[in-house]
Amino acid sequence: MTVLRALSIRGKLLAILFVGVLMPMSIGLAWFTLQEVRALRRELVTTNSLLAYVAGQYSAAELAFDNKEESEETLRALTKLDQVVFAALYDSQGQLFSSYRKPSLAPGDTIPGQIAPPLEPNVEDAADHIDIYQPVVYNDVRYGTIQLRVSTGSLQDRIKAYRWSVILAALGLMAFVVGFAFALELTLTRPLLSLAELARRITKREDYSVRATASRGDEIGTLSEAFNAMLSEIEKRQHEAREAARIQHLLASVSGALAESLDYPLTLSRVVRLLVQSFADFCVVDLVDEEQRIHRVAAAHADPEKEGALRELYECFKPTWDSPLPAAQVLRSGEPLLLPEVTDAVAQAHVLGAEHLRLIQRLGTRSVIAVPLVSHGKIFGALTLACAHPTRRYGPEDVNMAQELARRCAIALENARLYREAQEGIRIREEFLSVAAHELRTPLTALHLTTQRLRRLAPPVPGGGGEANRFAALIHAVEQQGKRLANLVGSLLDVARIDAGKLVLEPEEVDLVEVVRKVVDQFSDELLKAGCTVRLAAEHPLIGWWDSSRLEQVVTNLLSNALKYGAGKPIDVTVEAFNGAARLIVHDHGIGITEEDKERIFARFERAVSVRHYGGLGLGLYITRQIVSAHGGTIRVSSQPAAGATFTVELPRGPREQAPSL
Ligand code: ADP
Repeated sequence: MTVLRALSIRGKLLAILFVGVLMPMSIGLAWFTLQEVRALRRELVTTNSLLAYVAGQYSAAELAFDNKEESEETLRALTKLDQVVFAALYDSQGQLFSSYRKPSLAPGDTIPGQIAPPLEPNVEDAADHIDIYQPVVYNDVRYGTIQLRVSTGSLQDRIKAYRWSVILAALGLMAFVVGFAFALELTLTRPLLSLAELARRITKREDYSVRATASRGDEIGTLSEAFNAMLSEIEKRQHEAREAARIQHLLASVSGALAESLDYPLTLSRVVRLLVQSFADFCVVDLVDEEQRIHRVAAAHADPEKEGALRELYECFKPTWDSPLPAAQVLRSGEPLLLPEVTDAVAQAHVLGAEHLRLIQRLGTRSVIAVPLVSHGKIFGALTLACAHPTRRYGPEDVNMAQELARRCAIALENARLYREAQEGIRIREEFLSVAAHELRTPLTALHLTTQRLRRLAPPVPGGGGEANRFAALIHAVEQQGKRLANLVGSLLDVARIDAGKLVLEPEEVDLVEVVRKVVDQFSDELLKAGCTVRLAAEHPLIGWWDSSRLEQVVTNLLSNALKYGAGKPIDVTVEAFNGAARLIVHDHGIGITEEDKERIFARFERAVSVRHYGGLGLGLYITRQIVSAHGGTIRVSSQPAAGATFTVELPRGPREQAPSL
């Protein structure tokens, strides 16, 4: 079975036919021949034994009367028969009495002179003859024996004839078997092998457009048809997969181009260029502005030679709200438009006149899709795609694709618009902050100078007096408000500087302890008024490479917050060296900060208290963190509501590589 499995179909067929047909038939023929030969021999023996018996009956008298002549006559009659070679009569002692032999008998074939007389009829086989011995008995008296030598030549002839028949039958059968196997190979194996070869070729070249010849109506034909059907399916799926990959690639490229820049005219011109590489032969984008005017903003053609005609179309035949152009129609309806076949009649219905029609025809327009660009339900543009290929036409699937492209373009354009608006807003705000801060500084400086002059001009009141004290207190109040105003303006100016990246540090050798002491001194009045005392723990000077005025600002912001949010309670300020860095800790016992506000309060304009209870802009901690970060340091807060707050600033002490800016 294993041997059979390894054989080709032809080999298998040959083996099966040999073993299943040829061999049994040959054995059958041989057996039949053998049976036939046996039957012939039996017949030969029976017939000639009968002859011998009859001749024996005649010969009994001849033996009894010693009549040799009569006996020979009887024997001659016997040899007239074809098969009898010779006939001999022996007396009761086995002595030859008389005989007759055919003249044709070979001289070597001698008639024995003496035999052992058999008691019963006897038959002896030799290669080319049979000897039949028949006792001659009459009235129970035994007179002698008659011998007939019968030639088996006819039997041999028959055997030869049978042998040839068997050989010829076997050869015929073999020829039939081989012919059958070849015929089967021609009709079965070859088509199968050619199918296998085709499958191999297809796999190697990945060309699924070839087909097997399938004209026959048999099982091979069915197999070929099934094979071809499979190839058609694979080809269809391959086409779909390629199409999907092409679409994905196009969408990815378009998305990439859209994401690359927020400069929308540039982006749109890139996108239309991408579209004419694979999806359209030419493509135009129209946008609607704030005043509802339609503008052609981008166009491209796949064929550089047709760019001129496209430019003419772009510049001379712009859509207006009531024009029949596909883009205008889409802008009016908000629905996509598909013109699968742009015949002359169709083109005429969508142009602005004969010249426009001529241009459309020159561009070879065959099929058109126009889709709206929609953002937040508002139609703000249209994308028009045209195909100029002689055989290609747009269909519903292309409309879906165009809508997906339009959706992506719309998102990108909307993002660009929002970004532009945001940028513009930021620019206006920064400009305002900067101008306002500068403008406010001038009167503040004037106010400061005026209060100083007032203080100098105040009439000296000997020994003091109520009037003089009130005057001094009023000047002081004006000075304090002026200082507060100056701080607020300073903060706004800092924010504007930080946003513009123009806040530059001027580092020098500074003693942090000295800075803290100076600020605490400056706060002495406020501290007194708020009922706060500052407990400063700073025994040694702590020198670092910092911007002294900005550091002052950091300490001021933290101390003023501690004073504002922890009024009536002591404030602990610690300045210490820590791991080669400097650490400033401002700890108050005030209102504290909730967990969720801890990070937020460092962002600009972020506050965790209501304006009604505590004044402020929400800029102090933002500016503080910016200054600390610019020094390469960190600031963090730990606090619990109603349990005070601890602000920790850590600053590296060494000089930084470059003068940092914020
Ligand atoms: P402002 O104090 O002007 O509001 P800041 O940026 O200095 O702005 O502070 C931001 C917010 O952080 C404050 O509004 C306040 O809610 C909270 N905060 C700052 N310092 C403290 C403090 N020491 N204790 C409690 N809350 C504080």
